[in-house]
Amino acid sequence: MEKSSEDKLSKIVSLAKRRGFVYQGSEIYGGFAGTYDFGPLGVVLRRNIVDAWLRSMQMHENIALLDSSIFTAPRVWEASGHVSGFNDPLVVCDSCHSKLRADHLLKDIEVNADERMTEDELNELFDKHRDKLKCSVCGKKKFGKVVQKSLLATSTLGSFDENDEHVYLRGETAQGIFINFKNVLDTGFYSVPFGIAQVGKVFRNEISPRQFLFRKREFEQMEMQYFVRPQDAKEAYEMWKKERMEYYIGLGISQKKLRFNQHENLVFYAKDAWDIEYEYPFGWDELEGIHNRGDYDLRQHQKFSGVDLSVLDEKTNDRYVPNVVETSAGLDRTFLMLLADAYEEDEMNGEKRVVLRFSPNIAPIKVAVFPLLRNKPELVEKARGIYKNIKKDIPDSMWDDHGNIGKRYRRQDEIGTPYCVTVDFETLEDNTVTVRDRDTGKQERVAVDELLGALSLEKKR
Ligand code: ATP
Repeated sequence: MEKSSEDKLSKIVSLAKRRGFVYQGSEIYGGFAGTYDFGPLGVVLRRNIVDAWLRSMQMHENIALLDSSIFTAPRVWEASGHVSGFNDPLVVCDSCHSKLRADHLLKDIEVNADERMTEDELNELFDKHRDKLKCSVCGKKKFGKVVQKSLLATSTLGSFDENDEHVYLRGETAQGIFINFKNVLDTGFYSVPFGIAQVGKVFRNEISPRQFLFRKREFEQMEMQYFVRPQDAKEAYEMWKKERMEYYIGLGISQKKLRFNQHENLVFYAKDAWDIEYEYPFGWDELEGIHNRGDYDLRQHQKFSGVDLSVLDEKTNDRYVPNVVETSAGLDRTFLMLLADAYEEDEMNGEKRVVLRFSPNIAPIKVAVFPLLRNKPELVEKARGIYKNIKKDIPDSMWDDHGNIGKRYRRQDEIGTPYCVTVDFETLEDNTVTVRDRDTGKQERVAVDELLGALSLEKKR
């Protein structure tokens, strides 16, 4: 990673901690790899992301919502192919003992390891390039053998005796959707084409969790599986690809930092697969996967469960198993992208500042309200009254009376608050306040009665 990119990521990590977005998991115990905790602002930002995603799904009349359980019958993961084939290739550095992804080391020297390779094939490829491969931690060139490791995390459930069952924590939310396909269909409200969307926690035994929120062991997915007639899958696929890219642009993300990337190697059942990639501080990488999965998933669950998952084509009177077009987005990668995209250092009134240029619909705090001076009871009382009223309409607003006005502006800029409202002595006379705009620094006098209308909280970028 280039020095400036590394700097940007570490600045984001430190701002995220300082201002209460993200903390290292189990921090006071020295941390716990691949886990992060979300602080007061992080929770609100995550909620805003989920809301935006749900809105983008619920705009469609035929998208149903679901919340399936994290613990699932182990057969689900056998049927889906995860038990046998959800692996990542591990290689250990003989010098510093770091556990690394063999495919990532190969990618660093621009060699592509096909996801479908067996352990033997991977070792052959790795051996062929061994002399060029360097440990990404210590830079040495001594490695052991490549071993395929399952990404499925396990737990134990049961009645605390020898019959306890080992279960898998879900490795993706999609399987919960497939196994509930018939349930949703049977409500009578939906018919093909329709989609099922859900947001939820996912667990993966990532070999080397790294790059902050990019690769975690516990993370959240926002997935939608769209069920279509086989002959309609291609058209639906193109529609969702276009729609998902537009969604990110609508979140205010710089268009030049988003791109599509088509998968070169498809799993045997997939018809097409593209990722939406973002240019993170450490380079271009996946943000969301959009896959045309054919009828593989429903067929597998039909086979393993014995339950008929076909539907009737009312025109031809034939039964068929629907095809699936999926959009699979990561909440944590969206969060990281939003921070990275919004982060800017600039100068305002001759002073350096850090600003998060979130669009107001995503910003965790929309308005901050201050009394000009915290030791003047008449100002504080007036400001409290105004704040209380704003809070009723805009719950994501904040009271701030620490330090001087300049410090408060800097602090609010750092968390991306679009507007600051200051109550001063003039307010006591004419019931107007100062509204200061995060991006331009411009201050305007606004009548308290017109305040809500003046805070144009629609998209700003
Ligand atoms: P990668 O190739 O980067 O490991 P993937 O192709 O395995 O990702 P999918 O299985 O397609 O990812 O998962 C869908 C989405 O879930 C990804 O686009 C990403 O946003 C998110 N995601 C996957 N793995 C992680 C992780 N370890 N931490 C955070 N988000 C993740």
